[in-house]
Amino acid sequence: MFLLDQWKKVLNKLENEVTAVTFDLWINTLTPIQYANDELILMAPSVTAKNQVNQPGIFEKITKCVRQEFTPYTFVRVTENQEYEQNIRKQDEELEKIMKESPNLKSKFNKKYTFENFVVGKSNQVVCAAMQSVAEHPSQKFNPLFIYGGVGLGKTHLLHAVGNYLNEHRPDLNVLYVTCEKFTNDYVDSIRNGKEKSNLDFRDKYRSVDVLMIDDIQFISNKMGIQEEFFHTFNDLYQNNKQIIIASDRSPKEMSALEERLRSRFSSGLIQDIQEPDYETKVAIIKKKCSQEGYLVDEDVVDFIAQKTGTNIREMEGILSKVVFYSSLLGKTHATMEDAHEALKDYGETEKTNLDAEKILNTVCDFFKVTKEDLIGKKKNKEIVEPRQLCIYLINDMLNIPLTAIGTIFGGRDHTTIMHARDKIGNQVKVNPHIRTLVNDIKSQLLKY
Ligand code: ADP
Ligand code: MG
Repeated sequence: MFLLDQWKKVLNKLENEVTAVTFDLWINTLTPIQYANDELILMAPSVTAKNQVNQPGIFEKITKCVRQEFTPYTFVRVTENQEYEQNIRKQDEELEKIMKESPNLKSKFNKKYTFENFVVGKSNQVVCAAMQSVAEHPSQKFNPLFIYGGVGLGKTHLLHAVGNYLNEHRPDLNVLYVTCEKFTNDYVDSIRNGKEKSNLDFRDKYRSVDVLMIDDIQFISNKMGIQEEFFHTFNDLYQNNKQIIIASDRSPKEMSALEERLRSRFSSGLIQDIQEPDYETKVAIIKKKCSQEGYLVDEDVVDFIAQKTGTNIREMEGILSKVVFYSSLLGKTHATMEDAHEALKDYGETEKTNLDAEKILNTVCDFFKVTKEDLIGKKKNKEIVEPRQLCIYLINDMLNIPLTAIGTIFGGRDHTTIMHARDKIGNQVKVNPHIRTLVNDIKSQLLKY
């Protein structure tokens, strides 16, 4: 349900972005088959269709619209029938198996996602402490506990950690973990089946738990009475002194479709963010992962990976296993810098060759529908000044070029003007969620292809 709904929204957007022929012949034949771990998989009916939509111009537009409707970090992959069947994604299936509820309703949790395996650093110590305290004293400390932060920063890991802890220490409690998507599907199924009984089943299930964890609540839809149902579930549990934990990729304030009454319910407990890990934490996480998985990796490789990768820890783990995979192909016992260079070759290249001021200018123009002449020109109306300052901020932030050089790009402006724009947006990014989201949207578009 969720997947199809979101995809329909993407199609509505795409219809205005490509020619009617491209849309009808190719794009409209795609079927979304899976959305997991920030990857949306689209199935094409034939190899030709797949190749058509994979063309740079078209693929970029699809990605752009997908990111507007899913998350700014979503990767898109187009596959065609056979390939997908051969390529059954083992890892996801495994996780799904783990998450499948056993008959007595209790959720099973991924055994790797424990508090012991969670590396604590400046960026996540508060959130981790809050989760630990809720695990140790459910319904007594922070209720509801709402945690939020970017993709791959450990939210799902922490939810499972709470689940694992409770299953071990409080087997008497009914602990239910669901994604927002699962909650939605369950609810929609219960209405679709129509009978009163299934509706009761749904309510029984959700209102008989002692601890309810909902992951990725940012996908809560304002259609079909989902928020209404969630509101009732929430109230019911809350009044009966049951623990509620919610995870999201953004704060309640930044969830535009969220009804006010839910927003205010969330604020009645603790809202805590999880931030991007600093360098030391990244190094510690890589080391932990190595010892957990039995990877043997040279010390300088750890530093190299921490330096080269961004803040998405899932991505960092992916790179690490790629490095180890390369070294194992060569029959080595230890992964060395050579393997790391090989594994990170593409990663580094996209960063270096693709990103320059020109590309940032173009992307910003695209985003705000302004012309490049206007962007670097002298116009002073708000519609131009804002994108211009944002663009200056991004160039300064993402490229290593001096302020005077940025001034030159913008029609010979003085470096103090550039500095002013940079600081203005820099401050806004800190205090204004709208600007922060905007900056992240544009950045992720720039970095991903
Ligand atoms: P999110 O739900 O925030 O997108 P996840 O919880 O799925 O992120 O985390 C992505 C990966 O990074 C997981 O494999 C998780 O174990 C790992 N990870 C994230 N933060 C930490 C941490 N502080 N210590 C160890 N592993 C971490
Ligand atoms: Mg998650």
